[in-house]
Amino acid sequence: MRIMVQKFGGTSLSTVQAREHVLRHVKRELETGFNLVIVVSAMGRRGEPYATDTLLDWAAQNGNALSAREKDLLLCCGEIISATTLSSLLEHEGIPTSVLTGAQAGFVTDDNFGNARILDVRPVRVLEQLQLGRVVIVTGFQGQTEKGDFTTLGRGGSDTSATALGAALRAEMVDIYTDVNGILTADPRIVEDARPLTVVSYAEICNMAHHGAKVIHPRAVEIAMQSQIPVRVRSTFADTEGTLVTHPEGFQDVQTGIIDRYVTGIAYVSNVTQITVGVPGGTDRLQLKVFKTMAENSISVDFINVTPSGVVYTVFDSDSEKAIRVLQEIGLKPQSLSGCAKVSVIGGGINGVPGIMARIVESLTLADIQILQSADSNTTIWVLVKKEDMVQALRALHTSFELHL
Ligand code: ADP
Ligand code: MG
Repeated sequence: MRIMVQKFGGTSLSTVQAREHVLRHVKRELETGFNLVIVVSAMGRRGEPYATDTLLDWAAQNGNALSAREKDLLLCCGEIISATTLSSLLEHEGIPTSVLTGAQAGFVTDDNFGNARILDVRPVRVLEQLQLGRVVIVTGFQGQTEKGDFTTLGRGGSDTSATALGAALRAEMVDIYTDVNGILTADPRIVEDARPLTVVSYAEICNMAHHGAKVIHPRAVEIAMQSQIPVRVRSTFADTEGTLVTHPEGFQDVQTGIIDRYVTGIAYVSNVTQITVGVPGGTDRLQLKVFKTMAENSISVDFINVTPSGVVYTVFDSDSEKAIRVLQEIGLKPQSLSGCAKVSVIGGGINGVPGIMARIVESLTLADIQILQSADSNTTIWVLVKKEDMVQALRALHTSFELHL
Protein backbone atom coordinates (compact mmCIF):
# COMPACT_ATOMS: atom_id res chain seq x y z
CA MET A 1 0.00 0.00 0.00
CA ARG A 2 1.42 3.42 -0.95
CA ILE A 3 0.74 5.68 2.00
CA MET A 4 1.18 9.43 2.15
CA VAL A 5 0.67 11.57 5.24
CA GLN A 6 -0.47 15.14 4.70
CA LYS A 7 -0.46 17.58 7.61
CA PHE A 8 -2.39 20.83 7.39
CA GLY A 9 -1.62 23.62 9.86
CA GLY A 10 -4.00 26.10 11.43
CA THR A 11 -4.01 28.75 8.71
CA SER A 12 -4.46 26.08 6.03
CA LEU A 13 -7.86 25.14 7.44
CA SER A 14 -9.30 28.33 8.86
CA THR A 15 -11.23 29.75 5.90
CA VAL A 16 -13.44 28.38 3.15
CA GLN A 17 -10.86 29.48 0.55
CA ALA A 18 -8.02 27.81 2.41
CA ARG A 19 -9.97 24.57 2.65
CA GLU A 20 -10.54 24.68 -1.13
CA HIS A 21 -6.76 24.58 -1.48
CA VAL A 22 -6.60 21.64 0.92
CA LEU A 23 -9.15 19.83 -1.22
CA ARG A 24 -6.98 20.40 -4.29
CA HIS A 25 -3.93 18.77 -2.66
CA VAL A 26 -6.04 15.86 -1.43
CA LYS A 27 -7.57 15.21 -4.85
CA ARG A 28 -4.21 15.45 -6.61
CA GLU A 29 -2.54 12.86 -4.38
CA LEU A 30 -5.52 10.52 -4.51
CA GLU A 31 -5.31 10.67 -8.31
CA THR A 32 -1.61 9.86 -8.07
CA GLY A 33 -2.62 6.66 -6.34
CA PHE A 34 -1.77 7.38 -2.73
CA ASN A 35 -3.72 6.17 0.28
CA LEU A 36 -4.04 9.32 2.33
CA VAL A 37 -3.78 9.96 6.03
CA ILE A 38 -4.44 13.60 6.87
CA VAL A 39 -3.28 15.08 10.16
CA VAL A 40 -4.94 18.35 11.09
CA SER A 41 -4.22 21.16 13.53
CA ALA A 42 -6.88 23.31 15.15
CA MET A 43 -8.27 25.96 12.80
CA GLY A 44 -6.82 29.45 12.80
CA ARG A 45 -4.85 31.57 15.21
CA ARG A 46 -5.59 33.26 18.57
CA GLY A 47 -8.93 35.04 18.42
CA GLU A 48 -10.45 32.73 15.84
CA PRO A 49 -13.23 30.60 17.35
CA TYR A 50 -11.64 27.14 17.74
CA ALA A 51 -7.93 27.90 17.67
CA THR A 52 -5.79 26.37 20.41
CA ASP A 53 -4.86 29.78 21.84
CA THR A 54 -8.53 30.81 21.83
CA LEU A 55 -9.36 27.73 23.89
CA LEU A 56 -6.52 28.57 26.28
CA ASP A 57 -7.83 32.14 26.61
CA TRP A 58 -11.27 30.70 27.26
CA ALA A 59 -9.92 28.61 30.11
CA ALA A 60 -8.10 31.65 31.48
CA GLN A 61 -11.25 33.78 31.40
CA ASN A 62 -13.10 31.13 33.33
CA GLY A 63 -11.05 31.40 36.47
CA ASN A 64 -7.90 29.79 35.11
CA ALA A 65 -8.36 26.92 37.52
CA LEU A 66 -8.37 23.96 35.15
CA SER A 67 -5.95 21.22 36.03
CA ALA A 68 -3.46 20.18 33.35
CA ARG A 69 -5.42 17.02 32.66
CA GLU A 70 -8.72 18.84 32.16
CA LYS A 71 -7.04 21.56 30.12
CA ASP A 72 -5.81 18.91 27.70
CA LEU A 73 -9.34 17.61 27.37
CA LEU A 74 -10.46 21.12 26.39
CA LEU A 75 -7.56 21.60 23.95
CA CYS A 76 -8.36 18.34 22.16
CA CYS A 77 -11.63 19.93 20.97
CA GLY A 78 -9.82 22.25 18.52
CA GLU A 79 -8.48 19.45 16.36
CA ILE A 80 -11.74 17.49 16.60
CA ILE A 81 -13.66 20.44 15.14
CA SER A 82 -11.06 20.87 12.44
CA ALA A 83 -11.03 17.16 11.50
CA THR A 84 -14.81 16.88 11.29
CA THR A 85 -14.98 20.08 9.22
CA LEU A 86 -12.54 18.62 6.71
CA SER A 87 -14.37 15.30 6.75
CA SER A 88 -17.62 16.94 5.80
CA LEU A 89 -15.94 18.88 2.98
CA LEU A 90 -14.39 15.73 1.52
CA GLU A 91 -17.56 13.66 1.90
CA HIS A 92 -19.45 16.42 0.07
CA GLU A 93 -17.00 15.87 -2.81
CA GLY A 94 -17.72 12.14 -2.77
CA ILE A 95 -14.49 11.20 -1.00
CA PRO A 96 -15.13 8.68 1.79
CA THR A 97 -13.43 9.58 5.05
CA SER A 98 -13.02 8.36 8.56
CA VAL A 99 -12.06 10.66 11.43
CA LEU A 100 -9.92 9.27 14.23
CA THR A 101 -8.86 11.09 17.39
CA GLY A 102 -5.23 10.84 18.46
CA ALA A 103 -6.23 8.08 20.84
CA GLN A 104 -8.19 6.16 18.20
CA ALA A 105 -5.30 6.50 15.77
CA GLY A 106 -3.10 4.74 18.32
CA PHE A 107 -1.00 7.51 19.86
CA VAL A 108 0.12 6.36 23.28
CA THR A 109 1.83 9.03 25.39
CA ASP A 110 3.16 9.57 28.88
CA ASP A 111 1.04 11.56 31.32
CA ASN A 112 2.96 14.82 31.11
CA PHE A 113 -0.21 16.76 30.31
CA GLY A 114 0.29 19.76 28.06
CA ASN A 115 3.61 18.51 26.77
CA ALA A 116 3.25 14.75 26.54
CA ARG A 117 5.80 12.53 24.86
CA ILE A 118 4.79 9.86 22.39
CA LEU A 119 5.67 6.41 23.73
CA ASP A 120 4.22 4.38 20.88
CA VAL A 121 2.00 4.64 17.83
CA ARG A 122 -0.26 1.68 17.15
CA PRO A 123 -2.13 2.65 14.01
CA VAL A 124 -4.31 -0.45 13.73
CA ARG A 125 -7.51 1.46 13.08
CA VAL A 126 -5.80 3.80 10.61
CA LEU A 127 -4.72 0.81 8.50
CA GLU A 128 -8.15 -0.78 8.85
CA GLN A 129 -9.81 2.34 7.46
CA LEU A 130 -7.24 2.78 4.69
CA GLN A 131 -7.91 -0.77 3.58
CA LEU A 132 -11.59 0.13 3.29
CA GLY A 133 -10.56 2.81 0.80
CA ARG A 134 -11.18 5.77 3.08
CA VAL A 135 -9.14 8.90 3.57
CA VAL A 136 -8.25 8.82 7.26
CA ILE A 137 -8.33 12.17 9.03
CA VAL A 138 -6.44 12.19 12.32
CA THR A 139 -6.58 14.94 14.93
CA GLY A 140 -3.00 16.12 15.41
CA PHE A 141 -1.36 17.32 18.63
CA GLN A 142 -2.96 14.68 20.83
CA GLY A 143 -2.72 11.21 22.25
CA GLN A 144 -3.84 9.14 25.17
CA THR A 145 -2.11 7.72 28.23
CA GLU A 146 -2.10 3.97 28.84
CA LYS A 147 -4.89 4.69 31.36
CA GLY A 148 -7.02 6.39 28.72
CA ASP A 149 -6.59 10.07 29.61
CA PHE A 150 -6.38 12.50 26.69
CA THR A 151 -3.07 14.34 26.40
CA THR A 152 -1.63 17.03 24.14
CA LEU A 153 1.89 17.14 22.74
CA GLY A 154 2.79 20.81 23.20
CA ARG A 155 3.24 23.64 20.67
CA GLY A 156 3.84 22.45 17.13
CA GLY A 157 2.71 18.98 18.23
CA SER A 158 0.76 18.27 15.05
CA ASP A 159 4.01 18.17 13.10
CA THR A 160 5.16 15.44 15.47
CA SER A 161 1.86 13.59 15.08
CA ALA A 162 2.37 13.62 11.32
CA THR A 163 5.92 12.29 11.21
CA ALA A 164 5.30 9.76 14.00
CA LEU A 165 2.30 8.42 12.11
CA GLY A 166 4.32 8.46 8.88
CA ALA A 167 7.00 6.39 10.58
CA ALA A 168 4.54 3.93 12.12
CA LEU A 169 2.78 3.46 8.76
CA ARG A 170 6.05 3.42 6.79
CA ALA A 171 4.64 6.16 4.61
CA GLU A 172 6.37 7.07 1.37
CA MET A 173 6.21 10.77 2.19
CA VAL A 174 5.04 13.16 4.89
CA ASP A 175 3.93 16.50 3.47
CA ILE A 176 3.69 19.36 5.97
CA TYR A 177 1.43 22.02 4.43
CA THR A 178 1.67 25.51 5.85
CA ASP A 179 1.38 29.18 4.91
CA VAL A 180 4.89 29.62 3.47
CA ASN A 181 6.65 28.17 0.43
CA GLY A 182 8.72 25.68 2.39
CA ILE A 183 11.66 26.15 4.70
CA LEU A 184 13.22 29.52 4.00
CA THR A 185 16.67 30.87 4.73
CA ALA A 186 15.05 32.98 7.48
CA ASP A 187 11.62 33.79 8.84
CA PRO A 188 9.94 35.67 5.97
CA ARG A 189 7.98 37.76 8.44
CA ILE A 190 11.24 39.45 9.36
CA VAL A 191 13.59 38.98 6.43
CA GLU A 192 11.60 39.90 3.34
CA ASP A 193 14.09 38.49 0.84
CA ALA A 194 14.36 35.10 2.56
CA ARG A 195 14.46 32.37 -0.05
CA PRO A 196 12.95 28.86 -0.01
CA LEU A 197 15.47 26.02 0.20
CA THR A 198 14.99 23.19 -2.30
CA VAL A 199 16.43 20.51 -0.05
CA VAL A 200 17.79 20.39 3.50
CA SER A 201 19.15 17.55 5.61
CA TYR A 202 17.34 16.38 8.73
CA ALA A 203 20.27 17.68 10.76
CA GLU A 204 20.19 21.14 9.18
CA ILE A 205 16.50 21.72 9.76
CA CYS A 206 16.63 20.13 13.19
CA ASN A 207 19.23 22.70 14.08
CA MET A 208 17.25 25.56 12.61
CA ALA A 209 14.12 24.42 14.43
CA HIS A 210 15.95 24.03 17.73
CA HIS A 211 17.24 27.57 17.33
CA GLY A 212 13.84 29.06 16.81
CA ALA A 213 12.71 28.53 13.19
CA LYS A 214 9.12 27.70 14.01
CA VAL A 215 8.23 26.33 10.60
CA ILE A 216 8.47 22.71 11.79
CA HIS A 217 8.85 21.22 15.24
CA PRO A 218 12.33 19.78 15.93
CA ARG A 219 10.88 16.67 17.54
CA ALA A 220 8.98 15.98 14.31
CA VAL A 221 12.22 16.12 12.35
CA GLU A 222 14.01 13.84 14.81
CA ILE A 223 11.34 11.19 14.42
CA ALA A 224 11.46 11.44 10.62
CA MET A 225 15.24 11.20 10.73
CA GLN A 226 15.19 8.07 12.91
CA SER A 227 12.93 6.27 10.49
CA GLN A 228 14.38 7.93 7.36
CA ILE A 229 10.98 9.09 6.14
CA PRO A 230 11.24 11.96 3.66
CA VAL A 231 9.35 15.08 4.63
CA ARG A 232 8.31 18.00 2.45
CA VAL A 233 7.41 21.39 3.89
CA ARG A 234 5.24 23.19 1.35
CA SER A 235 2.58 25.79 0.85
CA THR A 236 -1.13 25.01 0.98
CA PHE A 237 -1.76 28.03 -1.18
CA ALA A 238 0.55 27.20 -4.10
CA ASP A 239 1.50 24.24 -6.21
CA THR A 240 5.23 24.45 -5.62
CA GLU A 241 7.08 21.43 -4.27
CA GLY A 242 8.43 23.26 -1.24
CA THR A 243 11.45 21.98 0.66
CA LEU A 244 12.45 18.35 0.78
CA VAL A 245 13.89 17.25 4.11
CA THR A 246 15.97 14.12 3.76
CA HIS A 247 19.37 12.57 4.54
CA PRO A 248 22.31 14.12 2.66
CA GLU A 249 22.60 11.13 0.30
CA GLY A 250 19.03 11.86 -0.73
CA PHE A 251 20.18 15.24 -2.07
CA GLN A 252 21.34 13.57 -5.25
CA ASP A 253 17.76 12.65 -6.08
CA VAL A 254 16.96 16.31 -6.28
CA GLN A 255 17.51 18.02 -9.62
CA THR A 256 19.93 20.54 -8.18
CA GLY A 257 22.53 17.85 -7.55
CA ILE A 258 24.91 17.99 -4.62
CA ILE A 259 24.48 21.02 -2.46
CA ASP A 260 27.49 22.48 -0.75
CA ARG A 261 26.84 25.54 1.32
CA TYR A 262 28.39 27.01 4.41
CA VAL A 263 25.30 28.55 5.85
CA THR A 264 21.79 27.12 5.51
CA GLY A 265 19.80 29.74 7.33
CA ILE A 266 19.37 32.16 10.16
CA ALA A 267 17.02 31.78 13.10
CA TYR A 268 16.18 33.60 16.30
CA VAL A 269 14.73 33.23 19.73
CA SER A 270 13.49 36.47 21.21
CA ASN A 271 12.50 37.43 24.75
CA VAL A 272 15.40 36.00 26.65
CA THR A 273 17.23 37.37 29.68
CA GLN A 274 20.98 37.23 30.12
CA ILE A 275 22.00 36.32 33.64
CA THR A 276 25.52 36.88 34.93
CA VAL A 277 26.70 35.40 38.18
CA GLY A 278 30.15 36.42 39.24
CA VAL A 279 32.16 35.46 42.29
CA PRO A 280 35.09 37.50 43.42
CA GLY A 281 36.79 34.53 45.04
CA GLY A 282 36.79 32.13 42.07
CA THR A 283 34.18 29.79 40.62
CA ASP A 284 34.56 26.94 43.09
CA ARG A 285 31.40 24.85 42.71
CA LEU A 286 29.57 27.94 41.46
CA GLN A 287 28.56 26.41 38.14
CA LEU A 288 27.27 23.36 39.88
CA LYS A 289 25.28 25.45 42.37
CA VAL A 290 23.81 27.72 39.70
CA PHE A 291 22.73 25.04 37.25
CA LYS A 292 21.51 22.67 39.94
CA THR A 293 19.32 25.46 41.28
CA MET A 294 17.96 26.19 37.81
CA ALA A 295 17.20 22.51 37.24
CA GLU A 296 15.53 22.07 40.63
CA ASN A 297 13.25 24.97 39.75
CA SER A 298 12.52 23.67 36.23
CA ILE A 299 14.03 26.76 34.60
CA SER A 300 15.50 25.92 31.23
CA VAL A 301 18.84 27.52 30.52
CA ASP A 302 20.66 28.19 27.29
CA PHE A 303 23.71 29.89 25.89
CA ILE A 304 25.96 28.95 28.78
CA ASN A 305 29.45 30.49 28.97
CA VAL A 306 31.69 29.68 31.90
CA THR A 307 34.71 31.89 32.59
CA PRO A 308 37.10 32.17 35.53
CA SER A 309 35.14 35.11 36.84
CA GLY A 310 31.73 33.46 36.79
CA VAL A 311 28.97 32.13 34.58
CA VAL A 312 26.78 33.78 31.99
CA TYR A 313 23.66 32.18 30.54
CA THR A 314 20.17 32.95 29.31
CA VAL A 315 16.67 32.05 30.43
CA PHE A 316 13.33 33.03 28.91
CA ASP A 317 12.14 36.47 30.02
CA SER A 318 9.11 34.75 31.55
CA ASP A 319 11.40 32.77 33.88
CA SER A 320 13.81 35.56 34.74
CA GLU A 321 12.21 36.86 37.95
CA LYS A 322 12.07 33.38 39.39
CA ALA A 323 15.64 32.65 38.28
CA ILE A 324 16.96 35.76 40.01
CA ARG A 325 14.99 35.04 43.16
CA VAL A 326 16.20 31.47 43.58
CA LEU A 327 19.81 32.55 42.95
CA GLN A 328 19.50 35.25 45.61
CA GLU A 329 18.02 32.70 47.98
CA ILE A 330 21.23 30.66 47.81
CA GLY A 331 23.30 33.75 48.55
CA LEU A 332 24.43 34.72 45.03
CA LYS A 333 24.24 38.18 43.51
CA PRO A 334 23.09 37.72 39.93
CA GLN A 335 22.86 40.54 37.40
CA SER A 336 20.31 40.38 34.63
CA LEU A 337 19.63 41.97 31.28
CA SER A 338 16.15 41.24 29.98
CA GLY A 339 14.76 41.84 26.49
CA CYS A 340 17.53 40.09 24.58
CA ALA A 341 17.38 37.89 21.50
CA LYS A 342 19.50 34.97 20.39
CA VAL A 343 20.37 35.08 16.72
CA SER A 344 21.81 31.90 15.20
CA VAL A 345 23.69 31.32 11.97
CA ILE A 346 23.23 27.67 11.05
CA GLY A 347 25.00 25.50 8.53
CA GLY A 348 26.61 22.08 8.35
CA GLY A 349 29.41 23.67 6.33
CA ILE A 350 30.63 26.21 8.88
CA ASN A 351 32.65 23.66 10.81
CA GLY A 352 36.28 24.72 10.70
CA VAL A 353 35.79 27.32 7.98
CA PRO A 354 37.91 30.32 8.91
CA GLY A 355 36.41 33.76 8.82
CA ILE A 356 32.77 32.96 9.52
CA MET A 357 32.83 34.47 13.00
CA ALA A 358 34.81 37.41 11.64
CA ARG A 359 32.14 37.98 9.03
CA ILE A 360 29.40 37.91 11.67
CA VAL A 361 31.23 40.39 13.88
CA GLU A 362 31.98 42.64 10.92
CA SER A 363 28.42 42.78 9.62
CA LEU A 364 26.95 43.41 13.08
CA THR A 365 29.54 46.05 13.89
CA LEU A 366 28.87 47.85 10.62
CA ALA A 367 25.19 47.86 11.55
CA ASP A 368 26.09 49.33 14.96
CA ILE A 369 24.81 46.28 16.81
CA GLN A 370 26.40 45.30 20.08
CA ILE A 371 27.16 41.60 20.61
CA LEU A 372 26.38 40.77 24.23
CA GLN A 373 27.61 37.21 24.11
CA SER A 374 28.60 34.62 21.53
CA ALA A 375 29.16 30.89 21.27
CA ASP A 376 29.61 28.29 18.58
CA SER A 377 29.35 24.60 17.80
CA ASN A 378 30.09 22.49 14.72
CA THR A 379 27.02 23.68 12.94
CA THR A 380 25.90 26.90 14.59
CA ILE A 381 27.18 30.27 15.70
CA TRP A 382 25.01 32.18 18.15
CA VAL A 383 25.11 35.80 19.13
CA LEU A 384 23.07 37.48 21.81
CA VAL A 385 21.84 40.97 20.97
CA LYS A 386 19.34 43.41 22.42
CA LYS A 387 15.84 42.67 21.22
CA GLU A 388 15.53 46.06 19.53
CA ASP A 389 18.55 45.13 17.37
CA MET A 390 17.27 41.69 16.44
CA VAL A 391 15.49 42.49 13.19
CA GLN A 392 18.39 44.48 11.88
CA ALA A 393 20.84 41.79 12.96
CA LEU A 394 18.90 39.09 11.11
CA ARG A 395 18.73 41.18 7.96
CA ALA A 396 22.40 42.13 8.12
CA LEU A 397 23.54 38.53 8.56
CA HIS A 398 21.18 37.26 5.87
CA THR A 399 22.68 39.71 3.40
CA SER A 400 26.22 39.18 4.57
CA PHE A 401 26.03 35.43 3.91
CA GLU A 402 24.31 36.10 0.58
CA LEU A 403 21.34 33.96 1.50
CA HIS A 404 19.05 36.10 -0.64
CA LEU A 405 20.84 35.09 -3.84
P1 ADP B 1 1.28 25.98 10.82
O1 ADP B 1 0.11 26.54 11.52
O2 ADP B 1 1.00 25.65 9.39
O3 ADP B 1 1.94 24.87 11.57
P2 ADP B 1 3.42 27.73 11.70
O4 ADP B 1 3.07 29.13 12.05
O5 ADP B 1 3.67 26.76 12.80
O6 ADP B 1 2.32 27.19 10.69
O7 ADP B 1 4.73 27.73 10.76
C1 ADP B 1 4.80 28.54 9.63
C2 ADP B 1 5.46 29.87 9.94
O8 ADP B 1 6.81 29.65 10.33
C3 ADP B 1 5.58 30.79 8.77
O9 ADP B 1 4.45 31.58 8.60
C4 ADP B 1 6.83 31.64 9.11
O10 ADP B 1 6.50 32.94 9.54
C5 ADP B 1 7.48 30.88 10.26
N1 ADP B 1 8.91 30.65 10.03
C6 ADP B 1 9.90 30.91 10.92
N2 ADP B 1 11.10 30.61 10.41
C7 ADP B 1 10.90 30.13 9.17
C8 ADP B 1 11.76 29.64 8.14
N3 ADP B 1 13.08 29.56 8.29
N4 ADP B 1 11.19 29.22 6.99
C9 ADP B 1 9.85 29.27 6.83
N5 ADP B 1 8.99 29.73 7.75
C10 ADP B 1 9.50 30.17 8.91
MG1 MG C 1 3.29 24.77 13.22
